[in-house]
Amino acid sequence: MRILQGRPVSAGVVVARASLVQERPLPPIEHTRSLLSVESEITRLEAAIAQTLKQLAKLREKLASLPEEGREEISALLSVYERMLSHSRLVRAARARILQDALTAEAAVQQESDALALRAGPQPGMPEEEIEAARRRAGEFREVARRLLRNLTGVSFRAFSNIPTGTVLVAEQVRPADAALIDPNRIAAVLSEGGGVTDHTAIMMRALNVPAVLAIPQLSEIVRDGDLLIVNGTTGSIILHPDAPTLAKARDTMAEEARERKGIGRLRRLPARLLSGEDIELLANVELPAELPLLLRNGAVGIGLLRSEFLFDEELPLPDEDGQYAVYAGMVSDMEGRITTIRVLDWGGEKGIARLRQLGLPAGDEAENPAMGMRGLRLLLAHPEILEVQLAAILRASLIGPVRILLPMVTSTNEIIAAREHYERVAKRLRRRGVKIPADLPPLGIMIETPAAALTTDALVRQADFLAVGTNDLTMYTLAVDRASSMTSELYSPLHPAVLRLIRASADDAFRSHRPICVCGELAADARAVALLIGLGIRSFSMNAAALPRVKRMIRSLTLDSCDTLCRQAMLTSDPIELQKLVRQFAV
Ligand code: PEP
Ligand code: MG
Repeated sequence: MRILQGRPVSAGVVVARASLVQERPLPPIEHTRSLLSVESEITRLEAAIAQTLKQLAKLREKLASLPEEGREEISALLSVYERMLSHSRLVRAARARILQDALTAEAAVQQESDALALRAGPQPGMPEEEIEAARRRAGEFREVARRLLRNLTGVSFRAFSNIPTGTVLVAEQVRPADAALIDPNRIAAVLSEGGGVTDHTAIMMRALNVPAVLAIPQLSEIVRDGDLLIVNGTTGSIILHPDAPTLAKARDTMAEEARERKGIGRLRRLPARLLSGEDIELLANVELPAELPLLLRNGAVGIGLLRSEFLFDEELPLPDEDGQYAVYAGMVSDMEGRITTIRVLDWGGEKGIARLRQLGLPAGDEAENPAMGMRGLRLLLAHPEILEVQLAAILRASLIGPVRILLPMVTSTNEIIAAREHYERVAKRLRRRGVKIPADLPPLGIMIETPAAALTTDALVRQADFLAVGTNDLTMYTLAVDRASSMTSELYSPLHPAVLRLIRASADDAFRSHRPICVCGELAADARAVALLIGLGIRSFSMNAAALPRVKRMIRSLTLDSCDTLCRQAMLTSDPIELQKLVRQFAV
């Protein structure tokens, strides 16, 4: 058995044999100067363009058999390629090169596409929100050139059509347009050594609903045709030559996923309602805009936690107010009237290490106890200019749809008061600038993720409009166990009596003061734990979007009585192992 690890881009577990697809490399361009006449080279170029357009038209025909969502994405991409082959800058400039410099058609296409890709690609100082689009655009020039060069040199494209049905496609690189050749009914999963030319490849794989893992080092050296694999598109792990128990476990997961998939379409439209009639709010945790389609597909009624620290590439300067506004506004608009809860930047601890360095702060291993130092709201209050820019961008975006703002890593009322002062100052400044923002400012809430916050919720609620319990950090800070350390991972359990008692204390204070409270740590993705939390009185949960159907299905099978009983028993249990057993064995 051997385990490989890559970048998970499309969820799902698959057990199948590998089908290696190799692409014959293009020969190097030996002659840049043509030995033929200029007219002959122009004719070769025109023929290659015509052939490429014909191939793209064929790809388009294949779209009819793809799922609707994938069809739209890929069709738009093919249109871009088609435009690039018709009177585009690329074609005009390549023609000019042949005429002026007597280049071969290959050299002309290569040189011009390289120059255009370089010019279209990311530039120093470019605003962050434009970088991905620039990368994509550069990738599009390269892809069109690759297609032309294959046709000019007669080096065929790889064929996906002769891959045996039900196998895992293993390739060095998967390009976005390849998605048109991937029949999700035939190809069990997709693996590649390359990271995908742009995020487009990942989007395509998700749109096709094919489990996929990209950026797997040495994949093509290690995996052989016909090898048995377990692909986990959720975690990014690939198990090669699995033993019998591992195989049996993976098959169970596959069967469970198949059952879940069957029910998801129906489930999305059904309310998250207990059998006894109480409605539960199911929201999603989000890190990137690309997650929104899954969130909507799985029926979330909103975003309960947008971890804004993951939205912007840390190696680049943080976008200014307009740049951030564009990103938030896009997401709020895509949520089409559903609530979007944006948490302000939670740098510090294991997150935002590059940002801490940019601010001249010790980060990661250089810092003593990084999780306990400058982190979350503490850091933002020490750098109010960063907080204020972000608040201004969010306030402007809140005109587009319902928004809430969430403060991370709170330990005392003073911090919330200080943050609120910045919030009101920003609002005043925007109004003075003549910028439109809502008359009633969006609610300002806090994360309950330190024992201090959980135990003083009665005081914090006077300053906070709503509460979100972050069980990931609350567990870490309560049990004194690093959430990121594998050495102590068996000690890290949110189902510890101490954590539950803190959640109960916080929830009781929230109810008394009529403040909405939501649980948004990983515990909310554990369907049985959700039953326990409902017993505690919690009615709102935010989780990774993939977990929504499982949790909703559980909720629809519960009564408030069954949740109360579980909760009562749990609260009487002081042994963490017993408590975990009690919850695991809870059957409806
Ligand atoms: C948490 O701590 O539970 C939480 C939701 O925030 P994060 O995981 O981003 O720290
Ligand atoms: Mg946290």
